[in-house]
Amino acid sequence: MEKRSGTFACAGCGGPLFSSDTKFETHRLAEFLSPLDGAVETTTDRSLFMTRTEVHCAHCGGHLGHVFPTVRVPPVSVFCMNGVALSFEPKETNRSRSTARGVSRFCQYLSLRSSVS
Ligand SMILES: [Zn+2]
Repeated sequence: MEKRSGTFACAGCGGPLFSSDTKFETHRLAEFLSPLDGAVETTTDRSLFMTRTEVHCAHCGGHLGHVFPTVRVPPVSVFCMNGVALSFEPKETNRSRSTARGVSRFCQYLSLRSSVS
């Protein structure tokens, strides 16, 4: 996972969705405690005989992942995002070059994870 600060954006439309400040450190791919204001919308997903809260991009409607409650005390909701639905934009001065590098590292990380599991 990215250790630098920056913004996770929708891979579909490029709209900013999550700040790395709210990233929830776990073994899972991309989990966040809260989205940016107005960045995502949620709907109830009753497929697969379960009731889950689906998260989608408020800008383009692209599916991003689901919200799950945690077993922590106090309980919090965690936004579990599909890694391929996000692109990472690090906060650096040379935006165009650093964005390309950040995305490429993020993709390397994803392919590493998928080959392990
Ligand atoms: Zn989008």
